[in-house]
Amino acid sequence: MDPEICYLCGQSIEGTASRDHVPPRQFFTRMFRKTKSPNLLTLPTHAECNKSYQDDEDYFFASLAPITEQAYIHDWLMEEAGNKLSRQHSQGLREKVMSEFNSTVAGLYLPRHLIAKIPDWNRVGRVVWKVVRGLCYHHYLKFLPEETTHRIRYCQTSDPPPPIYTKYLLEAPLLASHPEVFAHRFAGVSNPGSLSGLWALIFWQSLVAIVVVLVGHGESRSGACASSAQ
Ligand SMILES: [Zn+2]
Repeated sequence: MDPEICYLCGQSIEGTASRDHVPPRQFFTRMFRKTKSPNLLTLPTHAECNKSYQDDEDYFFASLAPITEQAYIHDWLMEEAGNKLSRQHSQGLREKVMSEFNSTVAGLYLPRHLIAKIPDWNRVGRVVWKVVRGLCYHHYLKFLPEETTHRIRYCQTSDPPPPIYTKYLLEAPLLASHPEVFAHRFAGVSNPGSLSGLWALIFWQSLVAIVVVLVGHGESRSGACASSAQ
């Protein structure tokens, strides 16, 4: 059997592979893992490749988990985000996340009960794209290079879905072992075997990332092995 490849860089893994969770393990919260014993998907990576996403995954969780008001596990998300931000070594992350809450948007004051939140979508998008690449590898055994053309747009489940979602994604099966934390849909283009298509990633029943992927010739290749584990 061919050696495993790292789904993040596409290179073969010599020695012991690191196991990366897709989506990140922390998204499930400690309490959810403790009480539900979820079966989490992991994929082989190099330890360094895996680690290069840690800061952005921490940021994604700390910035977005507290504003997921539709989430069934909202209280656990709030608690865990609070715990992470209150740690002594988290000062940089804490200041960054707090600075994103604002009572004004473009100079206009919002009504008192509304607070604007403007996350760093580049960092959020890096994590979203990583999850898409992991799901490609898991479902289709194909490596999707980081530089593959893609576009991400975001919406909330509390808002009416955008036309691109209702037109292309609503009919696609909703795949979710634990929808309280994460669910996804994929609608491929007509060309069989192509990874071009649309993904919808739904985090905590609240945040929806719609990802359009356009794979050019030779941009993906078969992986040696993909599997799910505890
Ligand atoms: Zn790697």
